[in-house]
Amino acid sequence: MEALLKLSNIKYSYHTLQGEIPAIMDISFHVNPGEFLAIVGPSGCGKSTLLSIIARMLEPEEGTILVHNPNGSLSYPKMGYMLQKDHLLPWRTIWENVTLGPEINHTLTKEREEKLLMYLEKYGLSVFKDRKPNELSGGMRQRAALVRTLALDPEVLLLDEPFSALDYQTRLSVADDIGKIIKEEKKTAILVTHDLSEAISLSDRIVVLSKRPATVSTIMEIHLTKDPDKPLSSRKAKEFPMYFDLLWKELNQ
Ligand code: ADP
Ligand code: MG
Repeated sequence: MEALLKLSNIKYSYHTLQGEIPAIMDISFHVNPGEFLAIVGPSGCGKSTLLSIIARMLEPEEGTILVHNPNGSLSYPKMGYMLQKDHLLPWRTIWENVTLGPEINHTLTKEREEKLLMYLEKYGLSVFKDRKPNELSGGMRQRAALVRTLALDPEVLLLDEPFSALDYQTRLSVADDIGKIIKEEKKTAILVTHDLSEAISLSDRIVVLSKRPATVSTIMEIHLTKDPDKPLSSRKAKEFPMYFDLLWKELNQ
């Protein structure tokens, strides 16, 4: 299988009045199509910077990103972004929020509307369709934000600590939920998080970054024995504590 994205020797520094701040040193890894990849690393090490480079919002100083789209096209995959804050517009209803992207792009076809209605139905949001975001719980809002992101049919989802503003209980179930939705929709996902449990429970592989300037300290494949009928089954897998220990040591060495 050819990698969807192949990052080679990516380097990035911020230039400030106080001088140069090297954020990313020499980062290489690949992302497989359909894979759920997590990136973990200490706070301030350069994770968001790396995601912005993958999204092509920042241009790397050195290094390349090669693309191999499985559909044969050489174009850069379409990216959807999900952040810590849901950024739902408070004056628009949930429906008006999830249709905003296609509306702006003039691509809100009947077909797309039907797909969006299906997403809302499938992910338990239909009843909130005509409500305003402030009438929804944090978890529901984050789900609505995901549907809004899916509305533009991204090939790759970039998730920058999307659950960290939620309280612990909500966070567990929303992370679980959103992980399932992304798998069901067969999207490639790159999740940045500083929460090791979240990374282990959601991803196929984890890239561990060092302190700033970030380099790759290790890349770990995750294989969990899950009972799909149980809630939070990934976190209850017998391999979970072993991965946690390995990652913990890697981050604290
Ligand atoms: P992380 O997401 O891992 O917490 P970031 O990628 O946001 O880290 O930031 C990496 C480093 O770059 C931090 O030390 C931060 O202070 C610095 N940094 C981030 N954005 C800017 C900026 N716009 N200007 C200057 N320095 C920045
Ligand atoms: Mg960040």
